[in-house]
Amino acid sequence: MANPPQTTEQLLARHATYLPTHKPIAHFPADISAVKRMLIISCIDPRVIPEQIFGLEVNEVPVLRNVGGRARTAVWDVAVLDTLVDVAEVVVLHHTNCGATLNTDAHIASTLGARSERELAKYDVEGICFAADGIAASVRDDVAFLRQHPFVRKETRVVGFVYDIWTGGLERVDG
Ligand SMILES: [Zn+2]
Repeated sequence: MANPPQTTEQLLARHATYLPTHKPIAHFPADISAVKRMLIISCIDPRVIPEQIFGLEVNEVPVLRNVGGRARTAVWDVAVLDTLVDVAEVVVLHHTNCGATLNTDAHIASTLGARSERELAKYDVEGICFAADGIAASVRDDVAFLRQHPFVRKETRVVGFVYDIWTGGLERVDG
């Protein structure tokens, strides 16, 4: 988009355009525990839209997005969702030219530690950032992290990909 919205008012103007196109969305099924879902963990980068990359429609695949698409940040949501529906498969999606490669864990820790050391102590800052040449490695780390996590069931399949923002291609890393 040439002019991305930068205020709530601009966002609401976009919504006004969307509203006439909206179609009612299906309710949860009566037996929600029987629902089998895959989910995607991806970066918040607005250049990387998993729904677009995989051609997803409304009510198909839940997507968790955070800085870098890191499993450590997402795992709590994966686990909580899995208490409600059967999370059968998790896809970890990192991408080339990710902003997380421009930041460092140390910079995050020192910046947020200056705001509140006590609050910072509640978070795991290690492993949010990764090297520009190590995107496949960051995916591999996250796949391994999820596979050994006590909240993630052994039956849940975990697969990892690197998305190339230039070509649109996917490199399957693990799983
Ligand atoms: Zn990113």
